[in-house]
Amino acid sequence: MTKANTVSRYNDVCAQIEAAVQATGRESGSAQLVAVSKTYFEDDIEPVIEAGHRVFGENRIQESQQKWPALKDKYSDIELHLIGPLQSNKAGEAVALFDVIETVDREKIANALAGEMRKQDRYLDVYVQVNTGMEEQKAGIAPQQTSSFVSFCRDDLKLNVIGLMCIPPADENPGPHFALLRKLARENNLDKLSMGMSGDFETAIEFGATSVRVGSAIFGSRA
Ligand SMILES: *Cc1c(COP(=O)(O)O)cnc(C)c1O
Repeated sequence: MTKANTVSRYNDVCAQIEAAVQATGRESGSAQLVAVSKTYFEDDIEPVIEAGHRVFGENRIQESQQKWPALKDKYSDIELHLIGPLQSNKAGEAVALFDVIETVDREKIANALAGEMRKQDRYLDVYVQVNTGMEEQKAGIAPQQTSSFVSFCRDDLKLNVIGLMCIPPADENPGPHFALLRKLARENNLDKLSMGMSGDFETAIEFGATSVRVGSAIFGSRA
């Protein structure tokens, strides 16, 4: 995929997001794009930054450490979201590099993040990841444990929980999963919903997504 193509796909995705927002009668700009740049490197990412985009998502700490420090130095207002699973022994590195952690899903991680944030005096916004499909291999807290886990993170650990995040099962209609996430967020007084990827971000916006995580529709399919 050529770089000109990447920018034109980026522009298309922005237009599609805005059209979906308008179609749902929502306020313009109320769904944020997290451009998921995993597996892609500076040559592909930088044109999208130059086009004006600042919010990116990555799923691996080590890969992010290879490519983002230089880009963050060059463009000071980058907002980097961790959207992949986190191990507690990497919490320090995650807090140092990322700006938002979307994948808080168990006490051990929540504790490690809270400790690192205090240590580094760097208090990031976080999302709690919910395993809406109850898939065994997938990360995320169970739907019925969401409220108690959110209050543990928010009240006991003082983490700045801003919303919920989910990845619906690949082979199911995502609508019911998005609806469940929205219901759980309302029950917990959380405003932000991170849901929707390349294949279903318009549906996610219909169900109230405030943030969509789109990778391949911008950067191309991954090897
Ligand atoms: C890779 C990834 C995405 C983006 O997926 P695409 O289908 O390429 O848009 C979104 N969310 C998470 C958690 C991911 O790992």
